[in-house]
Amino acid sequence: MTTQHTDTAAATAAAVAHLRAHDAEHFAQLDEFLRIESVSADPGRNDEVRRAAWWIADELERIGVERATIHETGAHPIVTAEWMHAGDGAPTVLVYCHYDVQPTDPIDEWVRPPFEPRHEDERVYARGAGDDKGQLFMHLKAVEAWMRTAGRLPVNLRFFFEGDEEVGSEPVEQFIAGHADLLRADVCVVSDGDTFDDDGTPAIGYGLRGIAYWEVRVHGPRQDVHSGQYGGGVDNPANVLVRMLASLTDERGRVTVPGFYDAVRDLTDDERAAYAALPFDEATWRDETGVAAAMDGESEHSLLERLSARPTFDINGIWGGYTGEGAKTIIPAWAAAKISTRLVPNQDYREIEQSMKAHLASIAPPTVRVDARIIHGGAPAITPLDHPGIGPASRALEAGFGKAPLFQRSGGSVPVVAALDSRLGLKTLMVGFANPTGNFHAPNEWMSLRNIRDGMVSLVHLWAELGAMRGSDLRGD
Ligand SMILES: [Zn+2]
Repeated sequence: MTTQHTDTAAATAAAVAHLRAHDAEHFAQLDEFLRIESVSADPGRNDEVRRAAWWIADELERIGVERATIHETGAHPIVTAEWMHAGDGAPTVLVYCHYDVQPTDPIDEWVRPPFEPRHEDERVYARGAGDDKGQLFMHLKAVEAWMRTAGRLPVNLRFFFEGDEEVGSEPVEQFIAGHADLLRADVCVVSDGDTFDDDGTPAIGYGLRGIAYWEVRVHGPRQDVHSGQYGGGVDNPANVLVRMLASLTDERGRVTVPGFYDAVRDLTDDERAAYAALPFDEATWRDETGVAAAMDGESEHSLLERLSARPTFDINGIWGGYTGEGAKTIIPAWAAAKISTRLVPNQDYREIEQSMKAHLASIAPPTVRVDARIIHGGAPAITPLDHPGIGPASRALEAGFGKAPLFQRSGGSVPVVAALDSRLGLKTLMVGFANPTGNFHAPNEWMSLRNIRDGMVSLVHLWAELGAMRGSDLRGD
């Protein structure tokens, strides 16, 4: 009797062989997809964005994925589809990518035209090659390889492809809230990031920071007043603002607002080990930024840990009073600042809003009025390193790239990941295949043929690996 294990291994090998046998055809199809000018920020290209959505939906149907649907939103369409025949108890995985691309300006700096894909130096050059149409395409081809060889997939798959990522993912939160039935899954795989380096070291992203973004305004006299006539008696709102803001962090950058760190989840031993395993050269990092030295930070955390696993407080802009030529001797009527606080699991921006407002009110002198409002908030997200999907994803990436992945948390935010977590309780494995130096958002975007090939093989393995589990075991709850 053949064991199921041998069956799966043979089926996986057949799907990988299918990818290899159709290599040239796949690259020609990728070029066709990349020629569509799906620039979401350009209203003149709305039809092109829509054409990309249709291209995907047609392709999904052609390879045997069902219920391909183009959903109208207030902005660009969202494409969903599913294949749900993996059998009782089989896991369901939600795949997210985006099909819109960044604008191409400055167009003069493109050596090759952005929407005429070129294959040179073992790379595909085109807008969207890496971010994110190339990665979306890889998912389609991995699924096709399974469908054309085994006639089925080892897991249930749902697809969620967005056309507004490069302009802020505006429709996504509402779509998730209204379409839980189309998105429900045991785990989510997001491919919209990069490998760890350009030498084929894959990476799994498992955490993102959230954000609370603020405007603080300090009001003093009814109007600007003469600093000779009133100075010494009227408290200056700009002086008060800078004093208050300066008091919100200590000399190591730690936020002094009471309660700010209460919900912060400590790094686990595994996470500390994952951080320690990341190659990091502080001198190169300094060169990148042009700063003379890294700031003093919490001494119990390494620089890398502070860059993504710890909260921050930054003044993004500060203004008020006279800023023109020469001198104008006034005490301004008001002064203001924009502030971003990056948050980490399990900080909640609504709780941070309460504690920050209470603290500002408590330190404001009676000479001024302080208005603090939150402009927008976003939740952090984390998929614990002991999540049951991490092991299968690692093995799949190692099978594709020939190297074990590194694990990293990002200092930024990805709205869709946080929304899937908070709305559907869905944990995300960020498995990205773009090249870290591949010029996303810049002229001459590219992706290496090697990452495309190895990434597709990884995805074929990923579905086999996850298909060996039960859905209930994969959820990890
Ligand atoms: Zn992207």
